[in-house]
Amino acid sequence: MERGLAALADEPVDRLCNYPLAMGVNRRLLPGSPTYREWANDPKLFAASFIEGHKYFDFDFAIGLMDLSVMAADLGAHVRMDAENTPFVDGHIIHGPEDYEKLAEKGVPDIHKGRCGVLLEGTKLFAEKLKGEVITAGFIEGPLLALSQTASAERMFMDMFESPSAVHKALELTSEMDSQLVSEFAKCGVNGLCWDYLWASYSCLGDDQYEEFEGQYALKLNKQVQEEGMAVCIHSCADLPHLDYQINTYKPAIFSMGYYPLIPGSKSPTEIIDEGYTKNTLFAGVIDPQLFVRGSVEKITGVTKDLCQEVKTALCKNNQKSRWVISSNCEVPPDLETKLDNISAVVNTAKEYGAF
Ligand SMILES: [Zn+2]
Repeated sequence: MERGLAALADEPVDRLCNYPLAMGVNRRLLPGSPTYREWANDPKLFAASFIEGHKYFDFDFAIGLMDLSVMAADLGAHVRMDAENTPFVDGHIIHGPEDYEKLAEKGVPDIHKGRCGVLLEGTKLFAEKLKGEVITAGFIEGPLLALSQTASAERMFMDMFESPSAVHKALELTSEMDSQLVSEFAKCGVNGLCWDYLWASYSCLGDDQYEEFEGQYALKLNKQVQEEGMAVCIHSCADLPHLDYQINTYKPAIFSMGYYPLIPGSKSPTEIIDEGYTKNTLFAGVIDPQLFVRGSVEKITGVTKDLCQEVKTALCKNNQKSRWVISSNCEVPPDLETKLDNISAVVNTAKEYGAF
């Protein structure tokens, strides 16, 4: 906990913080190894996996991601839940512009029931148990993401051009649902709330569109998060995120990012630190999640070692102390094929080579 708080404040630490984004995969540590479906439907199993994950791996954070179909499910979309796959929407409910208005008219579903209810209850349970040990955060889908999951992204992006006012009516609804969720997450006792703004990428939206369809809603919600006593965190695995807008406007305490060396313009940790993005924000990244499945222990150890050295060098050069978390670009795949030893390798390497 002290290390995490120090890193947030860019104070000296014994070593860099670590948090490979291991969420659903931690269920495999639980007695009887519950299936993903069991885990995603039972708040006690959900919470126990974060507690066990921390105990087994020794992370510095715990962020309660379930999956990205939680809000859509409660809004009426059909979610396919296989025993061992991440749940996903297979039945969208928007088939024409009028359906956005119908969705808005239905109003916000009861967030204490359904999948939101499971997520909130599970988050409360692990936040209580890990309080004071690690920095905890709830995980929430941004209004545009929640709508895209409900409507299908393809449909929504088309309607943003053709029927923008209808889309905005539905965005007001998903924002209201988010606002209610923010208040409930605050009651869970988490230190922060982590947003997924999946479409905050120049590959998807230009500046004006981003501000119109997400920025104006997210700005109010982020203010609410801070007013309700939680730190704003953002998870962005996008290739070309709206970094300046998100950092300057939302003022997140933590920004979890992806780095794609083959995509021109994708920023490396060195560039992020050199360009001043870590002046007020703790950044996290950038190990390729697929390495946890396909990489060997030697390979992922080497990648982690290089990342620690790169980050320490860049921080030192910029007279910064600790504002980087050794983490992954996105969630460690919750699959049965993911090698738990590779997660341990990242944590142990970060302890050794992230030491100051
Ligand atoms: Zn991601």
